[in-house]
Amino acid sequence: MTATMTRPARTASTAPQGISLTLDGVTYRYGRSRTATTPAGLGPVDLRVQPGEFLCVVGPSGSGKSTLLSLLAGFLRPQTGEIRLGDTPLRGPDPRLTLVQQEPALFPWRTVAGNVAFGLERQRLPRAERTARVEDTLRLVGLEGYGPRRVHELSGGQRQRVSLARALAVQPQLLLLDEPFSALDDRTRTVLSDELLGIWWERKVTVVFVTHNLEEALALGQRVVALRGGEVVLDGPARELSVGQLRETLEE
Ligand code: ADP
Repeated sequence: MTATMTRPARTASTAPQGISLTLDGVTYRYGRSRTATTPAGLGPVDLRVQPGEFLCVVGPSGSGKSTLLSLLAGFLRPQTGEIRLGDTPLRGPDPRLTLVQQEPALFPWRTVAGNVAFGLERQRLPRAERTARVEDTLRLVGLEGYGPRRVHELSGGQRQRVSLARALAVQPQLLLLDEPFSALDDRTRTVLSDELLGIWWERKVTVVFVTHNLEEALALGQRVVALRGGEVVLDGPARELSVGQLRETLEE
């Protein structure tokens, strides 16, 4: 572990820790196709993610990764089955979870601090607490002192750090990541992956990380779930899996 991975944050001790995530017979189908007997989509999927677990979801294009994330983020509702966060059914976008997307959708007219504060404004936190939370979170993602900067002054990697900070500032119990590093160069991707592991270690947040990169999934996840044709075809501890095995399962 590098020094950056254990960078302390003042709010860390008070942040709520990870929550369990349960999918019971979840399906989502995109309408009826004239050519396909089973319309495209996802499921049925049964899955339980433990509190504080780091799960990577892999699968080729069209395997259902985005559909799964959209369901978890509450953008789509399951057509059958149920998703639960802790003991509560998920009924739409939920303040206990946040999503980091492949392209950081930052507000260009806001400063870095303004972007990170966005979710906190909606939580109506007092200004002093909001400022402290923004500073702590920027420190957590390695952007201490960047608060007053404009987004257009930042590199791609720094923008993705801001995006991560914005998602973490609200202290989610479940962090969803949709190919967050795929647009970055290899070196930046490695650095940010290490930092993400450090943040996960420190915050004990539950993580669902979607990627089509099998090496990345095995390097980051404690557990890897592979999707093919909208179904879970493999689910196991990362340390017991290999890229070859995953590739073989996904190509069968
Ligand atoms: P992935 O993220 O792994 O590429 P998706 O979840 O996007 O997979 O897609 C799963 C399946 O659902 C694919 O067959 C895809 O073509 C289909 N699909 C995705 N979005 C839509 C949509 N809006 N309308 C119809 N079919 C869709």
